[in-house]
Amino acid sequence: MEEKNVNVEKNIPQAEVKTINVNSNIKDGQYKCPNCGASEIMPNPNTGKLRCNYCMSEFDGKELIGVEKNISNLQGKIVGKGTQNIKEGANNMVTLKCGGCGAEIVIDTSDAPHARCHWCRSVLSVNNQLENGAIPDMILPFQTKKQEAEAKIQDFVKKRRFFANPTFKKEFTTENIMGVYFPYLIVDANAHAKFEGEGEHLVRKYTVGSGDDREYRYDADVYKVGREFDILIDDLSIESNSERLDKTSNSQTNNIINSIMPFDTENCVQYQSNYLVGYTSERRDVNIDDLEEKVNNQFKDVARFAAKEEAEFYDRGINWTTEDFHIVGTQWLAAYLPVWLYSYMEIKGNKKTLHYVAVNARTNETMGSIPINNPLLIAVSTIIEIICSALGIMLLMASSDSDDDDGSGIFALLFLAGFIFYAAMYARYRNKEARHTYEKETKKSLSNIIKNDEFIKHEKGLKNASMNDRNDNKIEGDNIKIGKLAKLSNDIKIEIAASAKQNNK
Ligand SMILES: [Zn+2]
Ligand SMILES: [Zn+2]
Repeated sequence: MEEKNVNVEKNIPQAEVKTINVNSNIKDGQYKCPNCGASEIMPNPNTGKLRCNYCMSEFDGKELIGVEKNISNLQGKIVGKGTQNIKEGANNMVTLKCGGCGAEIVIDTSDAPHARCHWCRSVLSVNNQLENGAIPDMILPFQTKKQEAEAKIQDFVKKRRFFANPTFKKEFTTENIMGVYFPYLIVDANAHAKFEGEGEHLVRKYTVGSGDDREYRYDADVYKVGREFDILIDDLSIESNSERLDKTSNSQTNNIINSIMPFDTENCVQYQSNYLVGYTSERRDVNIDDLEEKVNNQFKDVARFAAKEEAEFYDRGINWTTEDFHIVGTQWLAAYLPVWLYSYMEIKGNKKTLHYVAVNARTNETMGSIPINNPLLIAVSTIIEIICSALGIMLLMASSDSDDDDGSGIFALLFLAGFIFYAAMYARYRNKEARHTYEKETKKSLSNIIKNDEFIKHEKGLKNASMNDRNDNKIEGDNIKIGKLAKLSNDIKIEIAASAKQNNK
């Protein structure tokens, strides 16, 4: 390997944080139609654009001010004003002077960031970022119409009717679906990664032994592998509401909402509260500090999967022994992203589970969790188990003297059929494992790639189909509860324990 002259010593200004105000040209108060001067500006659900309800003119969303579009220029940290730290007990009330009649109107932003003037009925909105996390930097307007979302949700549920809980089947209706703007942080990174380790390439697969003792063996070439590159990561998206971040919650199926990412976040426009009219929204309640470790781990995961893509020759896997990941610069913006949400509360004794069916209101991607009729599913699985096991015994007796190659596999399948069926149906209805695979789906680009591949040795008669200690598909940035989140979930547990005690009295 020739000597590479790579100077990784980039000049990184420590803790340099630059705050940008991406919608600084939008003021609080009335949004007046430039065409007729009316203040009835609301989203048109058919186009996603803002529309003057008086003269029917439509307006395109405005482009963000001051954002660094070239990620390779990022050094240090750029943060949107909408990501500023939330102050405990920050005032939710904003007093605005109505531009229509001059009255003073108080808007409770914990409720909604817009209100009508009681006197002249003008729509007034709060667009300047507050210290309560209620106003993000940017917004991705709804594009999917309510009827389209209803059809998606109905279709999803229809395909899962047989084993659905009977009460749910009776009560299911899409009439009450809600358009919700959920809060996210959208993060870009300019980083440098260097992975080193050993990789294995399959040379030959064959069997040894005979009859029931027949087993597969593998021969492989072992290499020393290195991949080093600059990586630009574009719009990694993460929930910024502590409840939504908890994807393993037993009380609500948050992983469903997570799984309908990604959104086309490159089409986000300047935040303007009029976009929220007719929809509901949740508020950001975590800060960059609470999420930074998790986000950095997710960036590293994206880089690890990028390294794997650059080393596909190693089909038995790679064991990275050195992982250097170095962030040069990041850019953080707070966004509202649009979701159509159906929710259903399943009550079993004193256990409540809030199920969701969610539709990404930009891509129409749909996912859900459906309450299961467990006694029915167990009964059907048991019948399948009995029939298939009987069939297995019959086949086993009939073929006891023949020497079928894959016979043992078929018998195992038959004897486990009921359990396999149960697991498959459970997965299909509850979708507990569904999640946004950020490590693969986040946009990235690599440059200055340095590859090192040195043959070490040839291995024969390996028993495993892939490398024993491979870690090239490891994920570190998911399901880690950190800082405030861990504290918050503890608080909730304590609260639940306390209320359970009270109920038992
Ligand atoms: Zn107008
Ligand atoms: Zn007024």
